[in-house]
Amino acid sequence: MESLRFLEPDTVRSIARDHGSPVFVYSEALLRQRAEECLAFPAPFGLTVRYAMKALPTRAILKLFAEMGLHFDCSSGFEVERAMAAGIPAERLSLSAQELPDNLEELLDAGMLFNATSLQQIDVAGTLRPGSKIGLRFNPGLGSGGTNRTNVGGPASSFGIWNAYSQKAQDLLTEHNLSCVRIHSHIGSGSDPAVWQRVIGLTLDLVRQFPEVTHLDLGGGFKVGRMAEEASTDLQVIGAPLKQALEEFAAESGRKLHFEIEPGTYLVANAGSLISRVQDKVDTGEEGYRFLRLDTGMTDVLRPSLYGAQHPLVLVPSEESPRGEDHVIVVGHCCESGDILTPSPGDPEALQGRDMLEGFIGDYVVIEGVGAYCASMCTRGYNSFPASAELMLQVDGQVTLIRKRQEPSVLWADELG
Ligand SMILES: *Cc1c(COP(=O)(O)O)cnc(C)c1O
Repeated sequence: MESLRFLEPDTVRSIARDHGSPVFVYSEALLRQRAEECLAFPAPFGLTVRYAMKALPTRAILKLFAEMGLHFDCSSGFEVERAMAAGIPAERLSLSAQELPDNLEELLDAGMLFNATSLQQIDVAGTLRPGSKIGLRFNPGLGSGGTNRTNVGGPASSFGIWNAYSQKAQDLLTEHNLSCVRIHSHIGSGSDPAVWQRVIGLTLDLVRQFPEVTHLDLGGGFKVGRMAEEASTDLQVIGAPLKQALEEFAAESGRKLHFEIEPGTYLVANAGSLISRVQDKVDTGEEGYRFLRLDTGMTDVLRPSLYGAQHPLVLVPSEESPRGEDHVIVVGHCCESGDILTPSPGDPEALQGRDMLEGFIGDYVVIEGVGAYCASMCTRGYNSFPASAELMLQVDGQVTLIRKRQEPSVLWADELG
């Protein structure tokens, strides 16, 4: 049976009593520890760590990381505005977006850094700001991701300028008198040092073609094992050959590149847990399955339905009592057959039971590894379920509310007629 990652059974019960469920809890200690690990990433000529805020953009999280010296990667103009509203100076924000914001000019005026992710975006930036410095996001032609849907490099990915178009990119820079000072490639490289080594090789080939580049950004994608059997990235291990590659490049070219990484998952994934409650137990007969229905689901945690992602599920009895074991399918509260918390690994269409403590109505199920892409990427509002509350478990043991449970009427407040 799984044990809890950072909560105690009594804390789970007291949080649920005080704040209701479902409720996200983030561990300040783990967030700080992860940020320190990123800030210690091997880089011979300077390092900037940008938190990919789409993973979890709650203001208290942004402020904590800003205070620790992190910068931020924004995936839309709205994320830039959200970070600025949290008090983060625009100079610490970098935009790499699929869609350009309507107010791009205003954000550039404020001091935000910009990476063009397509030839058209170079053209737009050059028209708005001829003669300025920009970054270019390239697709180096290599893919590596946990699943096809998390793969953000290679020919099947639309992210970034295809590597073979570097001359076209150079022509556009020349046309607008722009200089490219940063090369960016985020392919979601995972935990394999050999893949990171290949990515830096391909990215340095691009840097050679752009003589004004001073900053090299390899993006995020440092894999984190949420389940005990899944591999996690050791930043020192993958960083060592990257550092060596930058040193060799400096010896060869005289160019000492400032290094940047943009972790999202790595910083927050395992620092978040969701406390939910068992609403019901149903079964489909002797040849069928036993199901636990929770008061959460894809409205808080969509990754299992989307990718067949696995999250630890720990049953916490509503009061201490001896329990046997059970093998159950855990499902969410939406009227949607895809709302499953125990799909087969990598296959959201198939069910896979979990061995857990026997659960009863009113017990808690703590869903772990939900810091990244859960509160920020879910179907909140579907079936008119409001967004869940978010709490910070502080280093001193205090629990503070960092996001209130959404008032349900907010869901229909903008409707007219
Ligand atoms: C999403 C994203 C990241 C973070 O990816 P993780 O897998 O969460 O580390 C970093 N950079 C860019 C440009 C991104 O779009």
